[in-house]
Amino acid sequence: MHRLMNGVGTVHQSSESWMNAPVQSNGATPRSKHVQDEFACDVFSERLMQQRLPKEVFRRLMQTIQCGDPLPHEVADVVASSMKEWAVEQGATHYTHWFQPLTGSTAEKHDSFLTPDGHGGVISEFTGGMLVQGEPDASSFPSGGLRATFEARGYTAWDPTSPVFLIHGPNHVTLCIPTAFVSWNGEALDKKTPLLRSMDAVSASALRVLKLFGTDEGVSRVYATVGAEQEYFLIDRELYYDRPDLVMCDRTLLGALPPKGQQLEDHYFGAIPPRALAFMAECERELYRLGVPVKTRHNEVAPGQFEIAPYFETANLACDHQMIVMETLRRVGPRYGLRAILHEKPFAGINGSGKHLNWSLSTNTGVNLLDPREETHTNMQFLVFLCAVIWAVDTYAELLRASVAAAGNDHRLGANEAPPAIISIFLGDMLMDIIEQLESGQPKKTMKGGKLDLGARSLPQIPRHTGDRNRTSPFAFTGNKFEFRAVGSSAAVSWPTTVLNTIVAEALDEIGARLEKAMGKNPTPAKREQAVRDVLQTIVIDHRRVIFNGDGYDQAWHTEAEQRGLPNLKDSVSAFAAISSKKHVELFKKHKVLTKPELDSRSTIFFEKYCKQLMIEGETMVSLARTRILPAAWRHQTELVDALAASESMDIENPELRSEVEKVIGLVRNTQARVVALEAALHAGHGSPEKHAIQIRDKVRPAMEAVREVVDELEQHVADDHWPLPKYQEMLIIK
Ligand code: ADP
Ligand code: MG
Repeated sequence: MHRLMNGVGTVHQSSESWMNAPVQSNGATPRSKHVQDEFACDVFSERLMQQRLPKEVFRRLMQTIQCGDPLPHEVADVVASSMKEWAVEQGATHYTHWFQPLTGSTAEKHDSFLTPDGHGGVISEFTGGMLVQGEPDASSFPSGGLRATFEARGYTAWDPTSPVFLIHGPNHVTLCIPTAFVSWNGEALDKKTPLLRSMDAVSASALRVLKLFGTDEGVSRVYATVGAEQEYFLIDRELYYDRPDLVMCDRTLLGALPPKGQQLEDHYFGAIPPRALAFMAECERELYRLGVPVKTRHNEVAPGQFEIAPYFETANLACDHQMIVMETLRRVGPRYGLRAILHEKPFAGINGSGKHLNWSLSTNTGVNLLDPREETHTNMQFLVFLCAVIWAVDTYAELLRASVAAAGNDHRLGANEAPPAIISIFLGDMLMDIIEQLESGQPKKTMKGGKLDLGARSLPQIPRHTGDRNRTSPFAFTGNKFEFRAVGSSAAVSWPTTVLNTIVAEALDEIGARLEKAMGKNPTPAKREQAVRDVLQTIVIDHRRVIFNGDGYDQAWHTEAEQRGLPNLKDSVSAFAAISSKKHVELFKKHKVLTKPELDSRSTIFFEKYCKQLMIEGETMVSLARTRILPAAWRHQTELVDALAASESMDIENPELRSEVEKVIGLVRNTQARVVALEAALHAGHGSPEKHAIQIRDKVRPAMEAVREVVDELEQHVADDHWPLPKYQEMLIIK
């Protein structure tokens, strides 16, 4: 049975899915048994469903899960009752429809299983109707103009492709049902609905291409697969609560660099500090229980920065699990006196955090369509899928850029540590070589990596990849998948995944149509090959400009990219503006992913969110400066003046002290003036969300940078015992 839906996407590596891994009764070490016992025990998994549901009901449900067939009422009733029984056995008293509104986090409204029985008592009830549909009030979630406040009705609809799970909290266990969230008239108010639609779209287009190669035998669906690596910072919780900027904005608005930042790069992959490791282990255990297949943990580049990465899964599941990963990091932190910070740039001058979105396409029979295999130049089907991605990324570079735009990510993209805001593709030497052969019409060979001799007899010869890694690229081919590295660490991955699926759906559709035309009816193998070569040759010629294997951090690339005509949307505000262009409206409409109003509402929400976030940051900065920084600086200034007066009263010349007094007075006055300017900029904004966002970008952000500049200098002059905020050096060193 195909397992992709319900577990990790490594279908070709293991016939058992992660969530359905059986508990081995013999041969397992106590440790592995311990881990397996805890595996996915908070998930109503496919294995549990198979055990607990009547055979026919299970079959119908799987048909819904795998083929998207609607679920009949009577079947839903049986599934619901079995689900409830299981949940209650585990201690659940409530259930919730869990969804992803456009706020960026998840939402839930809890209902008890108990219902009055009409005779003064209660019965515990959970019907198919309650499972399949909920009706939360939609008026308080952002709709970007789709709904007026009085048009409150919204529906949540069960997404059977993402298993239900339990959340345990102090004094409660709740059954969580992943759902899509739509308005009364069916418009998507969430991130899941368009994602699911985009998965249908990319599946249909991919099947069209597979058919041309005759490789669609037994394939009923093509899944987008996603593995999202999450970077985050850990800081001591007490210090966190002492920094109103972290509490309000999840990033420090002020703070001078410590003498030891990341210059030594000794943190990367270094030994994980014990408290952080204990925290990670507990997060992982909770995630296993929820069926989230986390795999990798390590220190990241910056001090106090870490990464957690899962195995990949079908995109829908991976996106839900990504939300759970972020929630878990936040939830578990306090138990270890820690706070997980998911912001893209919590500390200026120190590496920011991203979320690498690994993406590929896989058939339901377990074939990874982006696997180049051994003799790549003969693997025409792979080359078609590869060229489809190249076509898509070049044609929709602005949309892809916009899909990762957010106020937080503006501190990161293009800031010499993260990929530039220019979208380009890294392919590596082997594929580049084949692309060049395709361009000349006839691919003839595949470059080999060879062996790497380590020069010591005791060390093994290791196979070498045909190309090096390139971490400066925003969109890199990494062996058998693409890695979209421009995604921000706090982002939900569903929106960039939706965009990727949709643009590749369009590319495959376009290429499929060209191939069909070139091949004609019943083509001979030779004709088919020639058609593929011709179509790919044109695509390579037209879209090669998006491929860039060099250093993306280099200033020269910006100039070259401009010459190549690649777009460079430098900040979020310009990127948001590109979202609802005519070209993008047509794209989403054609693939039935988003209607024009749905797309427009998203860009409005992005602008609104940007404004809100930056207004909060600006106000917090003013308040910090007025109520903490300046009072501390004034006290320090008084002490300095007193000290100077004391020495002068004793007729002692102290020119150094005098110049320090003058320096500090200068900095303080400068701070006062810049805070006043920031306040003025904060109050000057108005107009549409887009206009306001532009004003914030052009006026508020520079005013904030100006305040920060002078306060950070002040920090290095004011006596440590007066400084009112924990400093970078205290926060960044967790032990
Ligand atoms: P990195 O070198 O970027 O740290 P890793 O191998 O640690 O790479 O992580 C890569 C991520 O890509 C993992 O989450 C992995 O599960 C995911 N991945 C691997 N294969 C695929 C695929 N076919 N589709 C989507 N994601 C994949
Ligand atoms: Mg990576």
